[in-house]
Amino acid sequence: MNLLELKDISKIYGNVKALQNIDLTVRQGEWLAIMGPSGSGKTTMMNIIGCMDRPSHGAVILDGKDISKEGPKSLTAVRRDKIGLIFQQFHLINYLTALENVMIAQYYHSMPDEKEALQALERVGLQERAKHLPSQLSGGEQQRVCIARALINYPMLILADEPTGNLDEANENIVLDIFKQLHGEGSTIIVVTHDAEVAEEAQRTVILEHGRIAKITHNQNDQRGC
Ligand code: ADP
Ligand code: ADP
Repeated sequence: MNLLELKDISKIYGNVKALQNIDLTVRQGEWLAIMGPSGSGKTTMMNIIGCMDRPSHGAVILDGKDISKEGPKSLTAVRRDKIGLIFQQFHLINYLTALENVMIAQYYHSMPDEKEALQALERVGLQERAKHLPSQLSGGEQQRVCIARALINYPMLILADEPTGNLDEANENIVLDIFKQLHGEGSTIIVVTHDAEVAEEAQRTVILEHGRIAKITHNQNDQRGC
């Protein structure tokens, strides 16, 4: 089943065509990477897929529903309900503990549940750090809190923007292992990355150039079931 379909998407800023005529289908359970040079449209595409922005033209079909004409409030609701976002800069709230940072995502979605939030931290190996503030955690640990927060509401899509961009190689590998585990459990993952090693872990890589899809490569891992 297709989880996401971009149909002839364009995004125009003044006279800049940030995205042009993008057609892309992502199957449920697929792991996709998006690469491309700076200015090629990756952030714009991520913002549209992540319900943070709308295309100027075209349709965005998420879970069978066209969301391309939805207003900001409705898009926010779709995002909270269906998408788990992971950022390069973590975007954790600095005065809340790791546990509270995870619980705040529950609060926006349904009801905070400390036990479930602790389980999410456990899944990323951080149960011992639940009461720590972000400033008391390493970059790799902060990113794992960010992943726990993204997972807490059982999103149908995990969308990560340069998730290893601020991490050293050891922590990059920890994050990639978590993604492999999530993919093995059936999660659909889209990762925007500059890092070819990260992209190689995905099943397909979409390469953007000047707002268009220049190439789609099938990676070695494509045989992993989906
Ligand atoms: P990438 O993430 O690959 O660096 P972006 O999606 O950020 O690319 O940008 C694609 C193009 O669109 C660039 O030329 C950029 O300057 C332009 N752009 C992106 N966002 C805006 C905006 N809000 N206003 C005007 N131009 C923008
Ligand atoms: P990235 O580091 O992912 O490539 P950018 O630095 O290109 O991201 O963009 C950061 C933010 O600034 C994005 O939200 C993007 O939409 C916006 N942006 C990018 N280019 C422009 C621009 N020319 N004018 C206004 N906003 C822009």
